[in-house]
Amino acid sequence: MTGKEGDVAWETLDLRTAQPFGIARWTHSSYPRTFVTYAQDGLTGRGEAAPNAFYGETGGTVGAVLPLLAEALTDGWDWDGLHERMTARMPQGHPSVKCALEMTAVEWAARAAGVPAWRLLGLSPLPLPESSYTVSLGPLEEMRRQAREAVSRGHGVLKVKLGTGQDRQIVEALREEVPGAALRVDANAAWTRPQAKRMLDVLAAADVELVEQPLAAGDLEGHAELRRLSRVPLVADESLHHVSDVPRLAAAFDAVNLKLAKLGGPLQALCALRLARAHGLGVMLGCMIESSLGIAAAAHLAGLADWADLDGALLLANDPFGGLEWAAGQLERPRGVGWGVERR
Ligand SMILES: [Mg+2]
Repeated sequence: MTGKEGDVAWETLDLRTAQPFGIARWTHSSYPRTFVTYAQDGLTGRGEAAPNAFYGETGGTVGAVLPLLAEALTDGWDWDGLHERMTARMPQGHPSVKCALEMTAVEWAARAAGVPAWRLLGLSPLPLPESSYTVSLGPLEEMRRQAREAVSRGHGVLKVKLGTGQDRQIVEALREEVPGAALRVDANAAWTRPQAKRMLDVLAAADVELVEQPLAAGDLEGHAELRRLSRVPLVADESLHHVSDVPRLAAAFDAVNLKLAKLGGPLQALCALRLARAHGLGVMLGCMIESSLGIAAAAHLAGLADWADLDGALLLANDPFGGLEWAAGQLERPRGVGWGVERR
C-alpha cells in the first residue's frame, strides 16, 4: 500500500522475521509496517508505524486513518500543534500512526537543525544500556537452542517469553542452558494470580532480573499484591497504553516498559519517561517487531533508561534500513543527522 496526503507520503512493506516469533498470544513471521515521510522546504523526515493488535491496530487500521491524521502535520517545527491536531481528529487509539507522524516531524526538525535527534531533544550523550535479545515462545528444545545461539553470538542479556503451563520448566532449563547470561522474562499478561505467585520463587531461584507483565493488563490490584511478595522487579507493559496511565501504575509496578509505537511517538515516550521518574518508577525502553528506523528512534532516548529491549530489527530477515551499529546486544547511539539510519 502506498498513499499521499499533502506533504506526507507512505508505503507499507511486509517485514519478515528470520524465525517465526511467538509470544503468549500469537506466533507470526510477517509484520506489515508503514513507512511515512514528511517533506518541507526541501528536507524530509521519516517515521514508522508498527501496529499491534493488542493496542487495537492492524495494517488495515493504519491505512484507514493515515490520510486523516496526516492532515495534522502542517509544520515540522510545531510538535505541540501536531499532537493537538492528531488528538482532535482521533482522541483515542492509533498510537503507531501518531508515532510515525511524530517521528517524521522530529526528524525533519533535526535535519533542518543539522543535528542528531537526541541532540535536538536536549538529551545528554549517555551510553545505552545493553539490549536484551528475545527468546521467543516455542518448544523447549527450540527455546534452548535460541538461547544458546544468542549467547554464542555475544548476547549477555536474554528476554524469555513465557505464558504457558510449562513456564517453570522453561525458566529452569534456560538458566541451566546459559548460566552466565542475565535473564529477564515476559509473561505478556498470560498468568493467573495463583500461577504468578507460584512463579515468584522460580524466578528468584533462577536469578531472573525482572518480570514483565505477569497478569492481565487491567489487574492493577493483582499486580500490587504480587509486587509486595516479589523479590524480582515487576515491569508494566500491556498495562501501559498512554502517558496518562503512568501515575496509577506506580502503586502496582516497579517499572514501566516504554515503546514509541504504543505511546504515540518519541515525544510521548519522553513525556512518559519523565513522568515515570517523577513517580519513582524504573524505565525499560522497548520496541515492537520493527525496522532499524523505529529502533533508531527509541535508541535516541535509550540513554535515559535503566534497561533496553531494542532487538526488534535484529530479528528481521529483510530490515529495509541500515546504519545502526550493534556489538551483540550493545547498540551504539545512532550517528548522523536525524535518526541516523538510511534506507537500504
Ligand atoms: Mg512485553
